[in-house]
Amino acid sequence: MQHTVCVTGASGYIAAHIILKLLAAGCLVRGTVRKSPDAYPFLSNMPGAGTHLQLFTADLLTEGSFNKALQGCSTVMHTASPYVINVKNPQRDLVDPAIKGTLQVLASAMKTPSVRRVVLTSSVAAITDEPDSSRVLNEEDWNTRSSLKRNPYHFAKTMAERAAWEFMEKEKPGFSLVCINPSMVTGPSLGPGLNTTNGMIRDIMSGVYPGIMDLNWGFVDVRDTAEAHILAMQTPEASGRYICSAKELHMRDLVHLLRSSGFSSYPLPKLDLSGRAGTAVMRVLSWTQPKNTGTFIRTHIGRSVHYSNAKIQQELGLTFKPVEESIVEAAEDLIRHAHLPKKN
Ligand code: NAP
Repeated sequence: MQHTVCVTGASGYIAAHIILKLLAAGCLVRGTVRKSPDAYPFLSNMPGAGTHLQLFTADLLTEGSFNKALQGCSTVMHTASPYVINVKNPQRDLVDPAIKGTLQVLASAMKTPSVRRVVLTSSVAAITDEPDSSRVLNEEDWNTRSSLKRNPYHFAKTMAERAAWEFMEKEKPGFSLVCINPSMVTGPSLGPGLNTTNGMIRDIMSGVYPGIMDLNWGFVDVRDTAEAHILAMQTPEASGRYICSAKELHMRDLVHLLRSSGFSSYPLPKLDLSGRAGTAVMRVLSWTQPKNTGTFIRTHIGRSVHYSNAKIQQELGLTFKPVEESIVEAAEDLIRHAHLPKKN
């Protein structure tokens, strides 16, 4: 059966990879973007796009905005949501578009009888914002600590996913909901923009960090993340949330990987601040950082994070590429897109 799939936030880093895969599978794709549809040549020039991709203008905060794009779709992949850490007004800039946008898309899907499944791009931000080093986090875990003042991006993602599950419970629509909860998504970008996660790799390679901090993150390749969305569409029994994270890396591993993979001429952090004293110094210095970067450092430094990826492997059959390769590809890509200068 040929699927017709709506992908919201088509201009985004993850969405573009989803669209590339959907087109390769012969699906008809209806993408939503914020600007004029002709402003995205990297999408309209994808193989198959000429006949199989249609772009519609829609905004998360405009009521009824997604109705037209959803017409005739069997699946909706809702990826659109602001992915920014530091904003002026967290309610206006993060929480409102995340929650209202999710509810709008679900309401439009309910009005469209052809829709059988909605795949929502949530995040591990909805799992925790203060990892407990002593245990492996799984899909039962919910972030209960974020707020408008504390990690507001995490708060927005948590509240949006909660709102989606509450909508399903209350409205009992004729479609099912599956959430994909990726960790730090990395790898090459199909568009010219700089995604927040790859922006962090750019910062590490540009001397922004004073030293190596005791921080670690889960990583996953962007193509695996896109594949997780496709599998969530194709697997009728898929249900609930799926953590999508291949492996955790410490900042020390990340810096070592980049240094030994041909990027040693970049100003990678050298000073090791990952011991107790360094962590104490970084806690103090975190107050000099942009507000939400500071909060993120204070809630994550000195803690290791472990995510279970058993459910997504067992139920959706997802396999993961080595994230080290994805990170090196991301670094090469940052240079190709001129987000980093070329160096020998
Ligand atoms: P991205 O490249 O910044 O894409 C975000 C998309 O959302 C863009 O298409 C953006 O449109 C759209 N958007 C933002 N505000 C909007 C609004 N008011 N109305 C309509 N569209 C709006 O980020 P991404 O990494 O692909 O993220 C996609 C999703 O994955 C997000 O829900 C994010 O929270 C989630 N996620 C990302 C990561 C990661 O590491 N990248 C990890 C976990 C979860 P414009 O292009 O017009 O700005």
